[in-house]
Amino acid sequence: MVTSVDADAEQPPKPDVLTDERFHGLTRLAQRHFGVTCAILMQHHNGQPSLRASSGTPPPAHLQGPQCHALITDENGQALGEFILLGRNQLHPGEQQLLEDLVHLAAAALQAEQRETALKHELHALRESQDRLALAIDNSGTGVWDRDVLHNQIHYSPGWKALLGYEAHELTPNLSDSYNRVHPDDLPFVQATIQAHFQQRTSAYEVEHRIRCKDGSYKWINSRGKVVARDADGNPLRMIGTSTDITERKRLEADLQIHASIDFLTQLPNRRHFMQQLVGQQHNACVLMLDLDHFKHINDRWGHATGDLALKHFANILSGQLRKTDVAGRIGGEEFAVLLRETHRRDACVFAVRLQEKLAVTPLMHGGQVIGLTVSIGVSDLREGDEGAEAAMGRSDRALYRAKASGRNRVVAE
Ligand code: GH3
Ligand code: MG
Ligand code: MG
Repeated sequence: MVTSVDADAEQPPKPDVLTDERFHGLTRLAQRHFGVTCAILMQHHNGQPSLRASSGTPPPAHLQGPQCHALITDENGQALGEFILLGRNQLHPGEQQLLEDLVHLAAAALQAEQRETALKHELHALRESQDRLALAIDNSGTGVWDRDVLHNQIHYSPGWKALLGYEAHELTPNLSDSYNRVHPDDLPFVQATIQAHFQQRTSAYEVEHRIRCKDGSYKWINSRGKVVARDADGNPLRMIGTSTDITERKRLEADLQIHASIDFLTQLPNRRHFMQQLVGQQHNACVLMLDLDHFKHINDRWGHATGDLALKHFANILSGQLRKTDVAGRIGGEEFAVLLRETHRRDACVFAVRLQEKLAVTPLMHGGQVIGLTVSIGVSDLREGDEGAEAAMGRSDRALYRAKASGRNRVVAE
């Protein structure tokens, strides 16, 4: 009769290097040739011996004595198990040696089994920790992707699909579909960044880009990855990486950018932002400087809050006169500037006069009162030989001063 006892049912399945069959075969040999009546295989686990298998019938106690007893140890001398063979007959020294050799053979098999079990434990633990890692990543607003470069396929974790609003069973692994989801404006940059890493010009792949969700909206993601397998020629075979949703951060950055460049009261570009627009501006453009006339009187007469309304009112009228390519900015309290691209000075003066006329026929209505506004404007053009756009602004400023001096509500060009 053969009995097998599993020492630890909680552990992953054990390999069958030392099968019960082998143990039984060993016992049969020992019984036939060495008068062994009973073979016992004990297995040690954490120093505790337990019955792994037994075969045969133990002899009566007064005849019992181990014919052979072998301790099985690992490379570090740690006990893995033991063989105990019991029998009636006294063995000749040669037979005893043979039996011990046999047992040592079986012991070696048990050692191999133990090594393999330890390896399986390690693998099992590794796989579990990988699963835990993927789960943790998936729950953190980050998804995992795995690209098969040879077959143009890319596999996504459920967390990655969830980022875009897809279920785990949705989305094909086709690479072309994945490129279709990238915002068309971002695609060339994304592909160039991937190629740079494929060709080993960068140590890793990292890019921020927009990607289309299931509902058609776009999200910003940060994707990071690395080629983890290459062929003998260095061609990429497999790349693994993660994508993180950074839409909120991008929104915040855009808001900050706008706040840093837009004047809160008039919603026009502020001085800094307007000056940035002038940088690198070619000639064949004009710069206008505008200053509201006697604005102190408006404040004095109607109050500062109404003065604010007057500034907004003027900014709206000014914006209404601009083409898409023109830029207006509030560069001081009641001072504004305009950049007219692709415009001659003569046409810039026409623009300035038209603005004054529009302002004249569109007074600010406040509490049933009509509040008239006028503006003085200096005009100049960007010229070859100018050291930056500030030169044109300086000329416009001088022209504005002359417009003020000659009675206000004028346009003067220099
Ligand atoms: P001029 O025709 O010579 O330009 O006369 P002015 O009264 O406009 O003269 P100045 O440029 O010296 O005065 C501008 C005034 O604009 C002074 C300031 O109190 C007012 N001002 C500046 N910024 C604001 C603002 O944001 N809101 C309001 N309500 N008033 C402002
Ligand atoms: Mg002023
Ligand atoms: Mg003024």
